[in-house]
Amino acid sequence: MKVTVPMPSEFDLIREFFTPPNSRPDVRLGVGDDAALLAPPAGKDIALTADTLVAGTHFLADAPAEAVGHKCLAVSLSDLAAMGAAPAWVTLAVTMPRVERAWVEAFCGGFHALARRFEVQLVGGDLSRGALSVTVQAAGLVDAGRGLRRDGARAGEDVYVSGVLGDAALGLGRGGEAFRRALHWPQPRVELGLALAGVAGACIDVSDGLLADLGHVLQRSGAGAEVMRGALPLSAAYREILAQAGWTAALAGGDDYELCFTANPKRRAEVAALAAQLKIPLTRIGAVTDGRGLRLLDENGNALAVARAGYEHF
Ligand code: ADP
Ligand code: MG
Repeated sequence: MKVTVPMPSEFDLIREFFTPPNSRPDVRLGVGDDAALLAPPAGKDIALTADTLVAGTHFLADAPAEAVGHKCLAVSLSDLAAMGAAPAWVTLAVTMPRVERAWVEAFCGGFHALARRFEVQLVGGDLSRGALSVTVQAAGLVDAGRGLRRDGARAGEDVYVSGVLGDAALGLGRGGEAFRRALHWPQPRVELGLALAGVAGACIDVSDGLLADLGHVLQRSGAGAEVMRGALPLSAAYREILAQAGWTAALAGGDDYELCFTANPKRRAEVAALAAQLKIPLTRIGAVTDGRGLRLLDENGNALAVARAGYEHF
């Protein structure tokens, strides 16, 4: 039984804002029925993920609506990228205290623009009244048995991270257009995730901070790692303030939505070629070891205490 009270203009809203044209042959039936009907191609596994973004916790209550629409989808596409999956279908549940058309329109502008960019089809969802929050469920397709997992890291592999770390976390505290942009407009590494299938040992997206997320890979893989702090990729804007800001944003800041992955050292040339081809920096930051846990080394090779293991929600 359904317990949420439908919003007054729910059906008009859905028709106007949440019913994009069908753009995929594997969608038999999209928005409008009791459920979507999807036709996954043979030989593919489905990667499935859900995330809730709560106003005040996961996005600033005064964040631009267009950015909220972008980000709620971007975080799910980032999860699919980390699995090496091509995004295909998405559902969207929005809870709002009241219907503000301008907010909904801007929100959908951000959401649909990103969906179009990656050919992911919105196939259903829900609208209800309550404190502002957004839940996105996204499904992607990956060749059967080839999904990238957290448990595939092996001692001796290199550890890489894409892009730069820490800018989004700095965007929470400071001004600076580049930092704010990183916080509000994360770019999911979809193409990179697809290219890493067959190259990476393990992969994860960095959403809660590098130390926490690489820690998950190590725990699931039963391995350890050494990471060189001085090798972490930082933006020019971050480098400028590194002396005051310190390394915390890069190590434990969260909201980066970069990919952290491991790969056999024999594949260094391949990884470098990928970076050049995709025009995404892929930086080697350390190595997987057969110990347990993560050792962080300073610029002189001395072990640093790993105090903050990243952002935790509870
Ligand atoms: P139900 O009562 O079966 O849950 P709803 O009245 O909630 O159906 O929704 C009607 C149709 O609109 C369904 O197909 C549902 O998936 C879709 N829908 C509802 N809200 C959204 C949304 N925010 N985004 C996309 N589709 C939505
Ligand atoms: Mg419903």
